[in-house]
Amino acid sequence: MSLPLTATRKRGWRLLCPDVYCPDGVTEIAPEGLRRAGIRAVLLDLDNTLVGWQRSDLSGRVREWLAALRDAGIMLYLVSNTRHGKRLRNLSEELGIPYVRRAWKPRRKGFLAALEAMQVGPEETAMIGDQMFTDVLGANRLGIRTIMVRPLARREFLGTKLSRTVECVLLALFRRIGWI
Ligand SMILES: [Mg+2]
Repeated sequence: MSLPLTATRKRGWRLLCPDVYCPDGVTEIAPEGLRRAGIRAVLLDLDNTLVGWQRSDLSGRVREWLAALRDAGIMLYLVSNTRHGKRLRNLSEELGIPYVRRAWKPRRKGFLAALEAMQVGPEETAMIGDQMFTDVLGANRLGIRTIMVRPLARREFLGTKLSRTVECVLLALFRRIGWI
C-alpha cells in the first residue's frame, strides 16, 4: 500500500477514483505507510469496512489494526451513513473512537465535522471505506486522500448491490488507464 505523499485536488472522473485500492481489507494498510505520507488522522467507514453490514462484531485482526494505528499516533474518527444510531454509538464507545452520525456521505458536512473535531486539515487526513460513491467521492471532493477496501461481506443494502456493478466497471477502467 503506498499512498501519494501529497494530496492533489481531483476533478471529473478522478473524483471517483481512490488513491489506493486494498483488495485484502483494512488490515493490509500499514500505519507506518500512512505516517510516511503525512497522515495524522484517519476517517473510518463502518459497514463492510470494519464490520459486516449491519453487524457489531469486530474481528481480532481489525481490533489489533486499530490499536496499531493509535500506537502510531494516528487519530481516528468514524464517519458512517448508517441509520442505526445505537449500534454506531455502542461500537464507538467500545472502541473509544468518536463518530459522526448520519454523515450523509458523499456530502461534505460529515467529513468536515470530523476534521473540525480533530483539528486537522484535509491534507493530513485519509478516508478508508468500501464505497466509491460515498466514501471515495465525498473525501476526494475535500482533498482528503482515499483508500478503498474490498467490502468485508457480500451481504448489503439492495441499492448498494446495484452500485457495486458500476464500481466494478470503474475500478477495472481506472486500473487499465493506470490511475490505481
Ligand atoms: Mg461501507
